[in-house]
Amino acid sequence: QPTLAVVGRPNVGKSTLVNRIIGRREAVVQDVPGVTRDRIAYDALWNGRKFTVVDTGGWEPDATGLQAAVAAQAELAMEAADVILLVVDATVGATTTEEAVAKILRRSKRPVLLVANKVDDERLMAETASLWSLGLGEPWPVSGLHGRGSGDLLDEILRALPESPRDDFNPVAGPRRVALVGKPNVGKSSLLNRLTGENRSVVDSVAGTTVDPVDTLVELDDETWRFVDTAGLRKRVNFASGAEYYASLRTKAAIDSAEVAIVLLDASEPISEQDLRVLTMAVESGKGIVLAMNKWDLVDEDRRKEMVRELERGLVRVPWAETVNISALTGRAVRKLAPALRTALASWDTRVPTGRLNSWLTDLIAATPPPVRGGKQPKVLFATQAATRPPTFVLFTSGFLEAGYRRFIERKLREEFGFTGSPVRISVRVRE
Ligand code: GDP
Repeated sequence: QPTLAVVGRPNVGKSTLVNRIIGRREAVVQDVPGVTRDRIAYDALWNGRKFTVVDTGGWEPDATGLQAAVAAQAELAMEAADVILLVVDATVGATTTEEAVAKILRRSKRPVLLVANKVDDERLMAETASLWSLGLGEPWPVSGLHGRGSGDLLDEILRALPESPRDDFNPVAGPRRVALVGKPNVGKSSLLNRLTGENRSVVDSVAGTTVDPVDTLVELDDETWRFVDTAGLRKRVNFASGAEYYASLRTKAAIDSAEVAIVLLDASEPISEQDLRVLTMAVESGKGIVLAMNKWDLVDEDRRKEMVRELERGLVRVPWAETVNISALTGRAVRKLAPALRTALASWDTRVPTGRLNSWLTDLIAATPPPVRGGKQPKVLFATQAATRPPTFVLFTSGFLEAGYRRFIERKLREEFGFTGSPVRISVRVRE
């Protein structure tokens, strides 16, 4: 659901206004000592529409000063919200802090609503006019305390909020795009043949390189998929010098234009450097991944045990990807590919609502706080999912989080929300 962030100096009446917006009863502020000062994200409902309200007021000024703290709120709001509310105390007017924050917010691509709070009676209406000077448009006079004007403000908020949360990725209509990658001779064109059900491609024991990038539409499990950049898989090409370099360029191009990659490994042979290069490329691209162990028909019990050991000490570990043991030659288990692709894409598309993310994170951190560094306990103040495809999270903290603790958060995030088959990215913003 879309998100509204509320920004303002302390004492301008942010919390009172937030309580108005979400309805008093929900405004139970849970205090978790040493973690975050209070809960920051709430669910709101107005005229049948749900949205999340983020009260950035948890970011009280500290040694860095008021202006810096409010500026940090504004940055946070721009990162996390679809609409931003800047609350100003109409009885005080615009201070230098608000001028500085307005300057930041004017850069925002999101709508910003300027709220003149504490307009408890008619006399104060005149004061709100001076707030035009902030360059954020018309001020909305309200009284958070008495409720005056808050209905109008809520209507305006709904008008400004998008129907669904913003997404930086415009999904391309049509079949979902799949890259079929793996080192030469792993069985890519054999698999493509098997999947298309026609013997259109030339299966040869020599690697191919792309000549022209043409996709293949494949019908799997009652769904059409676009296998990208498959033309090269069909070409019979000599192993000239540089072929491997071009093969790797082609792999990269295919993954880049796809949403999910089937990484083929040859189960009959030890995992090689080349396999790891392809796998690394896929992981780093941020696309969904399905691992397919091909040539399973050649795998006997000894080889199977050996492979388990290889995977365990593998240099690139992707325990979060689904593995399917297939044979392009016999057709074994190839019908398991479509469900695995769907799972990976669903994970890749997942958006965790801000409210849910933060209540989960608050509990996690209360149970296992970040390790103390330099005598200080870093606090995780707030988290938001900044993007999907792949799911990308931003943690706002008051101190450096060790790599081990970040991995812990990622592991727990996966336990809680799944993400099978998709990379997950976590970045940490430290507010100094
Ligand atoms: P590509 O270079 O990745 O496109 O690999 P190809 O599809 O050309 O396959 C290379 C060789 O492996 C060919 O001789 C195929 O017949 C063989 N091959 C592919 N898949 C399988 C499989 O599942 N089992 C066995 N036994 N051989 C396979």
